[in-house]
Amino acid sequence: MSIYPQKHKKVIVIGAGVSGLATGIRLASQGFDVTILEANDYPGGKLSEFRLGNYRFDAGPSLFTMPQLVEDLYRIAGKKPESFRYKKLEEVCRYFFPDRTRFTAPANPEQLARTIASELGETPETVSRYLTRSRFKYETIGSLFLERCLRKLSTFFNHRAFRAYLNLGKLGLFRSLNSYNKSIFQNPKTVQIFNRYATYNGSDPYQTSAVMSMIPHLEFGIGAFFPEEGMIQITGSLVNLAKESGVELILNSPVRKLETNGNRITGVRTESRFYEADLVVSAIDVSQTYSKLLGMKGQGDVYLNLPKSTSAIIWYLGISKATPETGLHNIFFSHDYRKEFEDLFQRKAMPSDPTIYLNISSKERKGDAPDNSENWFVMVNAPANEGQDWDRIIPETRANVLKRLSEELGFDVESAIEEETVLEPRTLESRTGSVGGALYGSNSNSPFAAFLRHANYSSAFRNLFFCGGSVHPGGGIPLALQSAALVSEYVKEKHE
Ligand SMILES: Cc1cc2nc3c(=O)[nH]c(=O)nc-3n(C[C@H](O)[C@H](O)[C@H](O)COP(=O)(O)OP(=O)(O)OC[C@H]3O[C@@H](n4cnc5c(N)ncnc54)[C@H](O)[C@@H]3O)c2cc1C
Repeated sequence: MSIYPQKHKKVIVIGAGVSGLATGIRLASQGFDVTILEANDYPGGKLSEFRLGNYRFDAGPSLFTMPQLVEDLYRIAGKKPESFRYKKLEEVCRYFFPDRTRFTAPANPEQLARTIASELGETPETVSRYLTRSRFKYETIGSLFLERCLRKLSTFFNHRAFRAYLNLGKLGLFRSLNSYNKSIFQNPKTVQIFNRYATYNGSDPYQTSAVMSMIPHLEFGIGAFFPEEGMIQITGSLVNLAKESGVELILNSPVRKLETNGNRITGVRTESRFYEADLVVSAIDVSQTYSKLLGMKGQGDVYLNLPKSTSAIIWYLGISKATPETGLHNIFFSHDYRKEFEDLFQRKAMPSDPTIYLNISSKERKGDAPDNSENWFVMVNAPANEGQDWDRIIPETRANVLKRLSEELGFDVESAIEEETVLEPRTLESRTGSVGGALYGSNSNSPFAAFLRHANYSSAFRNLFFCGGSVHPGGGIPLALQSAALVSEYVKEKHE
């Protein structure tokens, strides 16, 4: 039973991605009457699945960290999280370097230190010290900036904040991740492995702050996981929890307009009807909320113009061959990592030699592909869509990618393709509403990026809130779930 007085107050959540579903669950547990309106005919947004012939694919995210954020939602909904089953990975990623060096990163931090020492020539102490600092950064700054509102003075005047100020030098706020990694590791390959963590939020290791060196703690300190049913299990579990919590989920209902009266939103309008609302939570791209739903072009532009994270081209391939040298997560690094990021962020162009991420969920979940076959999710980072000539870029990049994979794995990949489809910046944008098809909203290349993201509430409308990858604290499943927690706190504060 809810302890909150607003039992029958009506909340409309726009968008049924993970953040919208999580917000729905949280607000329903606070006693609100919640309806989620979703444009697509399926929930989950970027986190959805589809089949091609005998192959199943998770469409978007493939790396699952911080499962406790999903489990929290079970507890909030008064359920036991036991039905949400996942396993901790023993191996984090297999790396393939252009000179044919291969390196498999074990998840265990001591084992990682030993393996990097023996195969890449660092000392085990250097690696262990790096991971200890990664943890320190995560615990000092992560909890400060990710779990709290950056618009409140109290965030900056408390013991956690003072601890961060005292350690500013160690946090590396004003140097790049690459420069930090180069100052620690001897081998450029180790630098490249740890530089890659910038891409976990769609940023550039040569620009983003060394604070991002906290991300390896998520994988090696807390763990990388795989949901038993694949990533779609996260969406499925949240949908079930939302329904069990009394949330109404209405698909095929794109919201066209927010109706206002002074500083209040009175409700939302779809093609077919008007939904009255006491509170509205927008779980879609914030710039779309301003420009398209509120018609506030200027206000929307501020967020529209924040530099975007990377987008991606993803080929989903049913491959009629088993490849024992690959694992669940595989990276085939480009020859020139710096140039790749200059292309992506400065020239906004597709690199001709992109780093390739190959995810094969059938390694963990056999039913995802027929026997002796594999479901390949082949992703390359791409610039966010600004009208580049994708019809030329996509086939060219496909040819480069298949050539590289064929050389590395020793067989003609093209001839093993049984099923194929592609997702690219334009279709990512049209299917999820993320501007430019950016995977993680705006990028974190500037040390001030966290302060530029939109807050989780509106200062113009007192009953409008925001969650999801385009607002504070940022993109990726854990942060999108965290944004839902922040919205529920603000709602408590403002409406109790
Ligand atoms: C290819 C890819 C790979 C990724 N890899 C990872 C990964 O490995 N790990 C990780 O943690 N994260 C990853 N991410 C990022 C992660 O998927 C997102 O940060 C997260 O899913 C965002 O959730 P969301 O709720 O903010 O938004 P979305 O998932 O974008 O959901 C928004 C929803 O709103 C709906 N909508 C839009 N406009 C309207 C409207 N007007 N009316 C009604 N509904 C509307 C959309 O249809 C959509 O369902 C990846 C993303 C992609 C695309």
